[in-house]
Amino acid sequence: MCITISSYAPAVPVFFAHNFSTNSFFKKMFNTAKSLSEDEIKILNNNADKILKREKLEKLIDIKNITSKTNLSKFLQTPLTIQDLQQVQQGSNAFFHGDGSIYINREVAPNLLFHEIGHAHNNKFSSFFKKIFPLYLPSQKIPFVLAFASLLLNEEKPKEGEELTKFQKAKNVFRKTLPFLAAASSLPMLMEEGMATHKANIWARELLEPNLAKKLAKSYKFGFLTYLAIPISAFLISFLGMKYKDFLSSGKSNKMADTKNTSQ
Ligand SMILES: [Zn+2]
Repeated sequence: MCITISSYAPAVPVFFAHNFSTNSFFKKMFNTAKSLSEDEIKILNNNADKILKREKLEKLIDIKNITSKTNLSKFLQTPLTIQDLQQVQQGSNAFFHGDGSIYINREVAPNLLFHEIGHAHNNKFSSFFKKIFPLYLPSQKIPFVLAFASLLLNEEKPKEGEELTKFQKAKNVFRKTLPFLAAASSLPMLMEEGMATHKANIWARELLEPNLAKKLAKSYKFGFLTYLAIPISAFLISFLGMKYKDFLSSGKSNKMADTKNTSQ
């Protein structure tokens, strides 16, 4: 039991690294928004409206423009938190809500609008993405649930003079796949994010001058990294935790063998 609890220790530095890198990616996205000129802000908003019209999303989507003057409490709607809305207000993030609304600060970060329209397009026009949308939020949490649960399992060891049974061997193989399964459970979220960015970049390349399209692509890259940090962290928590657990339990079994040897 004590060894199982200790196997959670590697999760602490992984969470620190996760938070640090995610915050720095958000900062990079914020810096892109800050680097936009007045003209670029206008161009982005006009072209986003053009996309909404052209893709017939205008009437299906409700854009909630969260500016510095907005009273945030009016816009609180699960699963969005006040911190999420503060990020939107600052211009470091934007959200697409399943009811068809986009939360964005159009005055500060219209660079994120193309990506959010990409989510709206997935949600309204792709039966595949419509189907996996309910999995989006769970696929942010399940990787960590699986990673922590994987540390409850022990490696099967053969009894003295005996070999592992088929079942024990299968259990060990399954145990080894758990870090990968934990990471893979984030796929619905990664696919949704990847496709929204892919659509946004196509529209940006088509409608904007190359430098501005590049700025958008750069902010989406950092946005995607904040999501990619989830499977990477879950994998590391599970993989490193298991290695540490196996290391601790091999030390314990060596000690037990030593005491047996000395008492004989
Ligand atoms: Zn997104």
